[in-house]
Amino acid sequence: MPFIEPLPIQKRESVMVTSKDCLVKFGDPYTNEGKFMVLWDVPTSLEVGVIPKKIYCNRAMIEPLTKAFNNVISRGLAGQLKTWDGCFNRRQKRGGTSMSLHSWGIAIDINAAWNGFGKTPTMSPELVKCFTDAGFDWGGTWKKPDGMHFQLTNI
Ligand SMILES: [Zn+2]
Repeated sequence: MPFIEPLPIQKRESVMVTSKDCLVKFGDPYTNEGKFMVLWDVPTSLEVGVIPKKIYCNRAMIEPLTKAFNNVISRGLAGQLKTWDGCFNRRQKRGGTSMSLHSWGIAIDINAAWNGFGKTPTMSPELVKCFTDAGFDWGGTWKKPDGMHFQLTNI
């Protein structure tokens, strides 16, 4: 019997949430906004640095964002969070034709001035980890990097 080399196990690419997933789960962002968006009153303990007092976001964001902000604060990285650049914004994806996940309030942008779309991100791996540990995917590793951008890993 000739030795048959086993095929390498295919590493599964991480599956990201798409605008189609959001349409199925949350509906049309133009007509269904009131069903999934909330004005989240951020707990006082998390109001450190530029973390907003209130965030208009998808209700699915409250738990992961709470975790992410707790990570940022407890790991002493609040000073690295320089600007909060928003969450809900109905628009097309930058450089694409589908709708951005900001349209459903499940994505946020931070430190935008230093992490422009298509540019090499300048965010520290420690800061990125605060969010990826809390259930977010980071746009900084994409083919066309979007270093300011974090979006929910699951909805
Ligand atoms: Zn974004």
